[in-house]
Amino acid sequence: MEFDVLIVGGGLAGASLAVALRGTQRRVAVVEPRAPQRPAGWDQRIYAISPASRAYLDDIGIWAHLDPSRLAPVREMAIFGDVDGHLHFSAYEAGLAELACIVESSHMQVEMWETLRRQHNVSLFSPASARSITPGEQSVAIELDDGRVLRTRLLVAADGANSVVRETLGIAARTTPYNELGVVANFTCERPHDGIARQWFRDDGVLAWLPLPGNRVSMVWSAPDAHAQTLLALDPRALADAVASAGGHALGQLTAESEAAAFALRLMRVDEIVRERVVLIGDAAHTIHPLSGHGINLGFGDAAALAARIAALPAWRDPGELAVLRAYARERAEEPRLLQGVTDALDRLFKTRHPLLRFARNSGMNLTDRLPVLRSALVRYATSGKF
Ligand SMILES: Cc1cc2nc3c(=O)[nH]c(=O)nc-3n(C[C@H](O)[C@H](O)[C@H](O)COP(=O)(O)OP(=O)(O)OC[C@H]3O[C@@H](n4cnc5c(N)ncnc54)[C@H](O)[C@@H]3O)c2cc1C
Repeated sequence: MEFDVLIVGGGLAGASLAVALRGTQRRVAVVEPRAPQRPAGWDQRIYAISPASRAYLDDIGIWAHLDPSRLAPVREMAIFGDVDGHLHFSAYEAGLAELACIVESSHMQVEMWETLRRQHNVSLFSPASARSITPGEQSVAIELDDGRVLRTRLLVAADGANSVVRETLGIAARTTPYNELGVVANFTCERPHDGIARQWFRDDGVLAWLPLPGNRVSMVWSAPDAHAQTLLALDPRALADAVASAGGHALGQLTAESEAAAFALRLMRVDEIVRERVVLIGDAAHTIHPLSGHGINLGFGDAAALAARIAALPAWRDPGELAVLRAYARERAEEPRLLQGVTDALDRLFKTRHPLLRFARNSGMNLTDRLPVLRSALVRYATSGKF
């Protein structure tokens, strides 16, 4: 079977790319071992979708189909330092409707897959996974675990941080473990969150509470491995108490709505995101500390840029041409690198115990808080990628 674009990995980055190619005449294939499913309650994996990502999901026809009762706008963000530092961002002040929108991962992915199943130019191979890859001059051959062989002019690796495609092709990744786990769980809270996302830089990690619909919050606690294991060993009631107390009971008592889950955190950089007939997108190309909440926003940025490049090609042009892919790589070089650098620096800055640095980082937050122009510029950058 021959395709123009074959996407290994039907997660959010890969599935959204396939949807975005709907208007083209390209034959698209998606290979994914696990079809997404709606969880019984609230998904533990939730994302802060930036206005730029929301616009992309709207353009490709996904946003309008999301159930509005499962979306929560973030209108304000309150960040607390480890001493008395405080920083406050507001959508209203920055002239925006919202800073971000909180959406469950599975909610978006299920919607994308429903679209893909009806899409005339897409063949879904699922459950299936890529087992081996043989690059050739005119096409790349991908052998699936069931023995079928697919050929494509462009192979897109959207198979996540542990990308098999990247590894099989010997594309080097520089990985720095943070020695931290992202512990996630959902809670109901005693007092309304008022659409405010809260984040605390603490000695035992970075704790974030993101608003969910109703009186619910989703927690991401990026905690050093040992502390994360302690949190994971707590029963739901003790965990809720520990999380409420770490957040200074800002929303009163918390009650656990889900089991806690955890993900290893690491910084991963790849210098070669394209080569002849191959491109890496999403977490296969870069991972980032979750304290900025931008991982999937970067993945959507990749998918949007690649889809636009492919859609702009005349039908006779080969989407696997190196010139096309190099132009894409240049376009996507800056944003991931900049965000990786900033979040990594922030993580290091708040891990340092030195009293002078502790003073400087908290004073810096308070100073920024008193400069509305700087705050608005930071918000504009975080939401649109532009000052
Ligand atoms: C604790 C935590 C909190 C986070 N919070 C946020 C947040 O608030 N906002 C945000 O934007 N990001 C956040 N992220 C980051 C986000 O989870 C990732 O950036 C995002 O999931 C990457 O999407 P992806 O589609 O590139 O990869 P993945 O979601 O990893 O998808 C890869 C897909 O490839 C498939 N696959 C793997 N191997 C093969 C194979 N051999 N053949 C075929 N398919 C294969 C997998 O089954 C999977 O479906 C967070 C991450 C963590 C760890």
